[in-house]
Amino acid sequence: MKLTTLAKRLAERSGEPLLEQIALGNKPLEDLGPDCLPWTGTSRGNSNTPRATKRRGRDNLPYLEIRSDLPVGVIQYNGKEHRVPRLLIQLTQQPSVEFRLQQTCSTPLCVNPHHFEVIQLNREVPQHDPEGVPDFSFGTTDEVTVEEVEELVEILLDEHMPATWTDVISNTLMEDLPPEMIRDVLKSLNKEHLT
Ligand SMILES: [Zn+2]
Repeated sequence: MKLTTLAKRLAERSGEPLLEQIALGNKPLEDLGPDCLPWTGTSRGNSNTPRATKRRGRDNLPYLEIRSDLPVGVIQYNGKEHRVPRLLIQLTQQPSVEFRLQQTCSTPLCVNPHHFEVIQLNREVPQHDPEGVPDFSFGTTDEVTVEEVEELVEILLDEHMPATWTDVISNTLMEDLPPEMIRDVLKSLNKEHLT
């Protein structure tokens, strides 16, 4: 799947059109406003149970960090599930060291990169680290998973309300996708009348 399509999905599911150009690197992150951007796509982790993690501070002394796992928005890209806030930081800042994110607002599923503190872990990103910077270079291929097609079709149905197959296939969200996969997904959603 192309990066341009990923950028469109990020904009649709965050409700912030500007995010498309920011994800593509055409606009600086500073252009993004201060409002929360609750993700309307898929999410993971709904536990409100606080969790204690043993950590070591700069002085190497252990301490307990208590935190709740808030649900996080996720998106499928090139066959992998990515956490949206992390993906946005990777796309816009391209950190060369490992990091974790601490959400600084209390809005569930917010994906505004301004609302996350980047905590650098002072380790260089290993070349084949699955949590490292995703390889966007092969996003230019036609490779696409059923999950990606399903998500794009869901956005299309929610936001653009197509009435015919021509409406479906002419929408820019569908431009990378094999028509047969689009048809299969529409059938699985009981939308045969659109095929
Ligand atoms: Zn927020």
